[in-house]
Amino acid sequence: MEYRVHKKTGDSISVIGLGTSYLSEVPEKEALEALLFAHENGVNYADLATAGAKTFEYYGKAFADVRKDMYYQVHFGANYETGEYGWTTDPEKVKKQIDWMLRQLKTDYIDYGFIHCIDTEADWREYREKGTLDYLMEMGKQGVVRHIGLSTHTPELANIVLDEGIVEQMMFSINPGYDYRHGEYANGSTDERMRLYRRCEAEGTGISVMKPFSGGQLLDGKTSPFGKALTRYQCIQYALDKPGVLTVLPGIRDKEDVRQLLGFFEAPREERDYGILGTFTPGEAEGNCVYCNHCQPCPMGLNVGLINKYYDLSMAGDTMAEQHYKKLEKHASDCMDCGHCDSRCPFRVKQSERMRQISAYFGI
Ligand code: SF4
Ligand code: SF4
Repeated sequence: MEYRVHKKTGDSISVIGLGTSYLSEVPEKEALEALLFAHENGVNYADLATAGAKTFEYYGKAFADVRKDMYYQVHFGANYETGEYGWTTDPEKVKKQIDWMLRQLKTDYIDYGFIHCIDTEADWREYREKGTLDYLMEMGKQGVVRHIGLSTHTPELANIVLDEGIVEQMMFSINPGYDYRHGEYANGSTDERMRLYRRCEAEGTGISVMKPFSGGQLLDGKTSPFGKALTRYQCIQYALDKPGVLTVLPGIRDKEDVRQLLGFFEAPREERDYGILGTFTPGEAEGNCVYCNHCQPCPMGLNVGLINKYYDLSMAGDTMAEQHYKKLEKHASDCMDCGHCDSRCPFRVKQSERMRQISAYFGI
């Protein structure tokens, strides 16, 4: 397992976590087997916006004894009073639900308490005016909630909430479909979405990724908006390469799903490489480095993706990015302008030109 440290909370979070949307559909034995197998293999982060109430019971049974090993993101506004998922901004219902969730989970604290699924300004206003946000903040003061999070699919709304300065973790839907304007939650332009990811990295807000496969659409050539299937590993790598991202949360049903996901760490670089996207993404992808490192190896040993990421982050106001850049073994000034990366880049980035720009900017 690989871990990333949350810049604000210091939590060391597994880069693959658990999405639980389907878990309630499977019998208890299979669900517990899957959860315990994930834990044994170092998975330590789980989202609990699930389709059905049973998931909470499963988590309680699987993890009560190892609760301190796990990080839970629990949603203030997910409502399971019918047994199935529902959405609410009613503070009384939210209170009852949180009490019930804590009992089911056999815990007395929540690592990340989320403002749940807010996509419009009207919903955000309602969430505050009804007092649901106050309740969440109060739970934070009492220590029941350790950190505040937000789940949303909309960059514009995300920015509005981030401006308030209360959110430390954000669950956002990231996949190549949505980022390039395809699919149900393809909200905002490619640029706007990338700016949001950079903002999160710059401000130390972690991102946990929902819908990394666009609900499975990207995995099948018949439903993929690109007319070609991508693999799970390509989608996971794609999300992990985005600034701010700490963990990707694919939905699991059983142990086999977990085993498949963990195969990501054994997969050769070529299997994670999503450079193929460059052949079917629209013009707006062109010329923008997505840090994929498809252009490697550089004969001078430059980590092209990382150099570009630190540059973009520094431009976005990340004060740490320059230090990180300077600590790299090779810098843009080491580029000998061979043009190898220009010819290899599927996104048609004129990288050798960019290296000159980056070197002038950082002075090295
Ligand atoms: S230059 Fe192209 S291939 Fe290289 S990291 Fe950037 S987007 Fe990927
Ligand atoms: S142009 Fe520069 S960065 Fe690109 S491969 Fe050649 S030496 Fe490396």
